[in-house]
Amino acid sequence: MARPKTHRLIHTPPLYKGFKPIGVMGRDLVTLEMSLDEYEAIRLADYEGLSQEEAAVEMEISRSTFARLIESARRKSSQFLIQGKRLVIGGGPVHFRENLLQCHDCHRIFPLSMGETINSCSSCGSTNLIDLAGGYGHGRCCQEKS
Ligand SMILES: [Zn+2]
Ligand SMILES: [Zn+2]
Repeated sequence: MARPKTHRLIHTPPLYKGFKPIGVMGRDLVTLEMSLDEYEAIRLADYEGLSQEEAAVEMEISRSTFARLIESARRKSSQFLIQGKRLVIGGGPVHFRENLLQCHDCHRIFPLSMGETINSCSSCGSTNLIDLAGGYGHGRCCQEKS
């Protein structure tokens, strides 16, 4: 029987839900799914340059779990680059520590505590704000978790 998965903590929601290669028709593309915990592993280890030990602490998981996660995330990244797949980011046993709201009109990003909200963009005044954690199906669950 599989052990229940513990939740991994992701700092903030990714800004992009996916990527696709230039010059390939959508219908010819094979989709590669990268979970939010794999995305966070790449961000912490490769983008921020943390050691695996430090990154595991950030995500509140064991070092061996982190090692498996980063290995799988790197394999997927290389397949995406070399084989030209559509990359879709989402899912996984995760919660976010903090949220981001993005202005739909001027694209400015507003970092907020989970559960906190604003009504309009302080740059352009637009009320068309996108809840990025909400877009990944998160929000209240992350607050209850932390
Ligand atoms: Zn704006
Ligand atoms: Zn959540």
